Amino acid sequence: MTTTITLVRGDITRQSADAIVNAANSSLLGGGGVDGAIHRRGGPAILEECRALRASRYGRGLPTGQAVATTAGELDARWVIHTVGPVYGVSGSDPSLLASCYTESLRVADELGARTVAFPAISAGAYGWPMDDAARVAVEAVREADTAVEEVRFVLFDAGAYEAFAAQVG
Ligand code: ADP
Repeated sequence: MTTTITLVRGDITRQSADAIVNAANSSLLGGGGVDGAIHRRGGPAILEECRALRASRYGRGLPTGQAVATTAGELDARWVIHTVGPVYGVSGSDPSLLASCYTESLRVADELGARTVAFPAISAGAYGWPMDDAARVAVEAVREADTAVEEVRFVLFDAGAYEAFAAQVG
């Protein structure tokens, strides 16, 4: 099945999709950027589920490159898929870990039965990944993924991010 890639400029918390991906940190307990916005707009139910995940499966935090789902609280989505991007320029800033965020998020989406998935530019904010390279890794990973997801929507916050992704999608 082919997955359609679409690009939107805007705020991911305003998107309507089966699943919205959070550029989380390994604590799963909230942060800035996309993470802060998702918890603010989605309300406390998401954080409660994240706390439960920390208390059960992920006592030491969600490892970089992995993904896990919660419900989406008050967001216009059924699920939030939390993934932890690699920090650029420190040990572990490996493009395959960034690609894994996309592949693993799509694997979780398939398990859930999600057909539309909205992604931010993972690692390209506080985690410092150069936008052009973040876009290249993201688009390649989605193109190569073996998934039943029908639409992957990249939701880009500013014009620079949008241009970087548009250059990759062509
Ligand atoms: P990371 O810690 O993985 O770098 P950030 O949340 O800091 O994640 O940033 C990832 C990207 O998401 C950046 O390009 C940032 O500008 C963008 N961003 C921040 N808030 C939002 C939002 N509400 N919707 C979509 N993109 C956002």
